[in-house]
Amino acid sequence: MKIGIPLETRPGETRVASIPEVVKRLVSQGLEVMVEAGAGERAGYPDAEYVAAGAQITDRAGALDVDLLLKVRRAEPAEVEAMRPGGVYVGLIESCGEDPVIAAMLAKGMRVLALERMPRISRAQAMDVLSSQANIAGYRAVIEAAARYGRFFPMMMTAAGSAKPARVVVLGAGVAGLQAIATARRLGAEVLAYDVRPETREQILSLGAKPIDLDLGESGAGEGGYARELSDEAKARQQAALAEVLLKAHVIITTAQIPCRPAPVLVSEAVVERMRPGSVIVDLAAASGGNCPLTIADEIVERHGVTLVGITNFPALVPADASSFYARNILNLLEIMVERVETGLELKDLTADEITAAMLIQARS
Ligand code: NAD
Repeated sequence: MKIGIPLETRPGETRVASIPEVVKRLVSQGLEVMVEAGAGERAGYPDAEYVAAGAQITDRAGALDVDLLLKVRRAEPAEVEAMRPGGVYVGLIESCGEDPVIAAMLAKGMRVLALERMPRISRAQAMDVLSSQANIAGYRAVIEAAARYGRFFPMMMTAAGSAKPARVVVLGAGVAGLQAIATARRLGAEVLAYDVRPETREQILSLGAKPIDLDLGESGAGEGGYARELSDEAKARQQAALAEVLLKAHVIITTAQIPCRPAPVLVSEAVVERMRPGSVIVDLAAASGGNCPLTIADEIVERHGVTLVGITNFPALVPADASSFYARNILNLLEIMVERVETGLELKDLTADEITAAMLIQARS
């Protein structure tokens, strides 16, 4: 069974779907691994390390024409043309509704496993790339904020004077938000955090941050561990109540998202206008519209003296570890997908396991 690891071609993407250490495991299990030349270069994994791990270095076509294609970013139409009919795509699909790229893969008799659809059950945790990458994004967002903030994060008492700790507010305490809280705390900031799901309160406290309690008159907890969209009334109440706390923040890290919906607006322009000049907002929801209407996706802008960071791919700024976590997630997924039979390795029935069944996109009959 041939596995392909192509070079990711999306501008700014530095990650790779598998790393030499994981490739070595795959090869030892009897899989043939084809790596496109230079695929791991930007993540710090040169071709020679893949060769030493037992992979073959190939051209683009050789890495795409395989039984099991491992991708980070959604496929491009030209890539689909080179994919093997009847093969399996394992990667992010980055779309919610009708999708011509997926339709083209299905038309070739391919099976598409969308990593976004990984169910949120404990058995799937080790395979969940959304979690592993969100964790990295939460960490890197705080590093970005600290670097752009013209003051200290920790309290400083020196012979030249003293500085108060930065006040950091984290909005959305999911995977990225909790890591942002932990990172900001490690840097010595005073941290307040808010999430619409009530169960996050304990987690916020356990990281040494102060939960922000708001009474919205309704719960924001949705299905499968995700949040649900609030009513218009509750949204307005939320924005107004949050404004008081946000005005006193020096750094805001926002991570609030709802799958396949626009991100909720939590930081209004009126709040940004009144924040202390030099404050920083890192909007991790920039790709889905942003939690602040002033955020521009993939740009860093200054508005009313406040720096707004709209970087949409923070994991790509930590490419070695991001690729390593991604590769391990996929390795764990492959363990439930591939089985050894007398004649070699075979793909299991992907509808038989609840994890692969939930991820599988099939052609409509
Ligand atoms: P996410 O990226 O979809 O959203 C980020 C956070 O924003 C969430 O905590 C959400 O509640 C919050 N949010 C949404 N709307 C908001 C609003 N209007 N105001 C404030 N906050 C808002 O979520 P996520 O980080 O991927 O995960 C959410 C939960 O799912 C976490 O508790 C996580 O531990 C759990 N999870 C479980 C598994 C598993 O068991 N396999 C895997 C991944 C995540």
